[in-house]
Amino acid sequence: MELKGLLNEIEARRSDLVQLTCDLVKIPTVNPPGNNYREICEFLSKRLIQSGFECQIIRAEGALADSNLYPRYNLIARHEGTRPGECIHFNSHIDVVEPGYGWTKDPFAAVVEKDRIFGRGTCDMKGGLASSIIAVEAFISVCPSYSGAIEISATADEETGGFGGVAWLAEKGYFSPERVQHVVIPEPLNKDRICLGHRGVWWSEIETKGRVAHGSMPFLGDCAIRHMGAVLDEIEQSLLPQLEKKITRMPVVPEQARKSTLNINSIHGGLAEASESYNGYPSPLVPDSCRMILDRRYLMEESLEQVKSEVYEILDKVKLTRPSLVYEIKDLFEVKPSYTDPTSSIVQTVGESINHVLGVSPEYVVSPGSYDQKHIDRIGKLKNCIAYGPGILELAHQPDEYICISDMIDASKVMAMTTNDLLNGGS
Ligand SMILES: [Zn+2]
Repeated sequence: MELKGLLNEIEARRSDLVQLTCDLVKIPTVNPPGNNYREICEFLSKRLIQSGFECQIIRAEGALADSNLYPRYNLIARHEGTRPGECIHFNSHIDVVEPGYGWTKDPFAAVVEKDRIFGRGTCDMKGGLASSIIAVEAFISVCPSYSGAIEISATADEETGGFGGVAWLAEKGYFSPERVQHVVIPEPLNKDRICLGHRGVWWSEIETKGRVAHGSMPFLGDCAIRHMGAVLDEIEQSLLPQLEKKITRMPVVPEQARKSTLNINSIHGGLAEASESYNGYPSPLVPDSCRMILDRRYLMEESLEQVKSEVYEILDKVKLTRPSLVYEIKDLFEVKPSYTDPTSSIVQTVGESINHVLGVSPEYVVSPGSYDQKHIDRIGKLKNCIAYGPGILELAHQPDEYICISDMIDASKVMAMTTNDLLNGGS
């Protein structure tokens, strides 16, 4: 098949691409709590059935956050070629974060101005979803007899961990090496970049314990907050400088995230903050508990055991000078780093397509935070997975989020060409 014909077909679908993106943005799928998942899946399913896809709308029953009030719906659409072959899968999340403050436009009106579409989710990632749909529809119309299969999924809850979305589907076998051979996640990484994976995550909660007493006689109690202060001090003095020195060979962007990082997500000790309905004074108490949540992002050169033992060592060290310290550490959440081999077929093929469509060499990057690739890799055991899509990463979750129509067209061409190369061997 002539490649030029395919790329022209994408150009010809420009207004369809804009309309589809706007239609998706106008269905406000804000998560949490996870609104309108069913509506958006039905909307997409109706369209994809017309394009010849077989569609399944699947509720992640029993998954984290799934309830009758807020059911977690997902769509899996599959189109079979005329001959056996490999399957390429485009996975997009349908949820968006709440709009927040600072907008000059209605976040769910999908306002189009020149080359831009404004709205919550335009960039992250309904523009990417629409681009992948246009890409495969154009491919199927130009090349109806191809080998293999094409899948599109629209999945829930990526913004809150993906447990009612990709993780659940992977558990049920929808992402497995028998069914799918190549996965592209059209997250907004910029149209000339290929994202190979992400760093690892360990969230933990440290609790220091003390003994409650009257605040006027603190010597009779044991202050859990002072214990935590000593832990924080030790983190500042010895752990943070140690993390600064660890630099990965993974091409993480932005540059500062090539180091190991630690964020203190929250800290709480003593009396709970008074509710708005109470306007009196707090009571004088020596706090007997203080809890802190750590968000540690680690590199593929580090092991999770090593990452954890660094924190255990800090606590052991503090205990030497504060013998009354009693503490507990709880694991809350962990994700191993994910890194797709740059020589794998999906990376090579998307790279060649970027080169052809944009006339530049692709940049290979790794994301500082994790996304649904973690479930496709760990649960689905699919190694041939990347994130590639239109949109400027920094605009994600911002007020006046937008996507450029020309970037969507370019990324759609790259996705169509990749599909052609993988399913037709480029012929
Ligand atoms: Zn996203």
